[in-house]
Amino acid sequence: MENIQLRLEAEKAEIIEDRREFVCYNSKNKNSKIRCEENSVSGAVSQRACVYCGARVVLNPITDAFHLIHGPIGCAAYTWDLRGSLSSGSELFRNSFSTDLSETDVIFGGEKKLREAVDEIVKKFHPKVIFIYATCIVGVIGDDIDAVCRSAEEKYGIRVIPVKSPGFSGNKSTGYRAACNAILKLIGDKKSDKKVSGINYLGDFNLAGEVWVVENYLKRIGIDIVSKLTGDGKVDEIVKAPEAKLNIVQCAGSMGYLAKQMEELYDIPFIKTSFVGLEDTENSLLQVANIVGDEETVERARELIKAESEKIQPELDYYRGRLKGKKAAIYVGGGYKAISLIKQFRDLGMETVMVGTQTGKPEDYEIIRQITKDGTVILDDANPYELEKFMVEKGADVLVGGVKERPLAYKLGVAFCDHNHERKHILGGFQGAINFAKEIDLTVNSPVWDYV
Ligand code: SF4
Repeated sequence: MENIQLRLEAEKAEIIEDRREFVCYNSKNKNSKIRCEENSVSGAVSQRACVYCGARVVLNPITDAFHLIHGPIGCAAYTWDLRGSLSSGSELFRNSFSTDLSETDVIFGGEKKLREAVDEIVKKFHPKVIFIYATCIVGVIGDDIDAVCRSAEEKYGIRVIPVKSPGFSGNKSTGYRAACNAILKLIGDKKSDKKVSGINYLGDFNLAGEVWVVENYLKRIGIDIVSKLTGDGKVDEIVKAPEAKLNIVQCAGSMGYLAKQMEELYDIPFIKTSFVGLEDTENSLLQVANIVGDEETVERARELIKAESEKIQPELDYYRGRLKGKKAAIYVGGGYKAISLIKQFRDLGMETVMVGTQTGKPEDYEIIRQITKDGTVILDDANPYELEKFMVEKGADVLVGGVKERPLAYKLGVAFCDHNHERKHILGGFQGAINFAKEIDLTVNSPVWDYV
């Protein structure tokens, strides 16, 4: 009964006036453009995280860096445990360090506390680099974290880098940009005279080991990774990034800016890639092989694709049989993932009936419009009411999203797949395509829905 009531309420929910242009029904005949790349509407209860959280998503996977949160302890709760990613070496990044600002610090300033925190970290851990994140309250009281960072660098001869990320200073994309600027500070602005035949891999945060999957594929076709930004990132490798021949960008929403800056500063061209789903994995491998390698590299990439595809086809066919005709809803962070997921669902015989992102760009939404059917609901920076309304209206069988979307789906009796930090298995590459199909099958065809 409770579930039916929730569904009825969700269907009746109204889109608030100021949000109407951020939502549309796809129509190929009309110019159904949606507004995007803007700050969230006040009071609309956006699913987006704050600026600081955006910065932390990008920087936290650097495994051997210190991440010091200058602010009240609450901000520091956003830790590795919520935004987990895997490391092949140091586990330092799993700790959380905070200046734990209190009312007295708000009145008299928090710089003294910040200096003492840096002193303590240096004494106890001898780090190579400390990132200091400015949170909301620091933006309000105006602590000069640049000055603290400069004097700590002089005092200790290590890198101490400010991350300008007060939560209210924009939206999640502002945080991505603040993180990218911090990475550029770490690398420095010198071009490298030395160029090696390798690539930098940008915008994969190694949530469940995807960076290693891609690294393995590239190795098999003869291409090395110079630095990983930032999943399984290591400071010593990151500073060598200017030596690479090419940047490949998985999540352009978070690291497209860094790729553009690196092109200007270090003459490294970039391409967008995606290793989510078979179609995009295959295209990306061939694209990278064509640009960085020679004919033999391309041939090796073709052989790898053939071998890996053949290995998974029988199992994939089994899941296609079980999922054909089901309807999917997608709400993820960036445009690239939404686009790859639409293709992945299509490959499984499923139709995407609702798709939205937190930080998609106009060009992402244009691709989404082209590859979805008329009537598909497209949303930018949605809130829980909108997601619930359209899931019910369009009869979605499953929602793919992150930690904040899970309860929305379950409350409505809709299956759910986590494509974000909570999952523990790889969803990238060929094996990831099987893991994804298996998870969708398990959740969509679970007998539990018969009892809801
Ligand atoms: S930075 Fe501001 S919005 Fe972000 S977690 Fe801290 S207090 Fe909240």
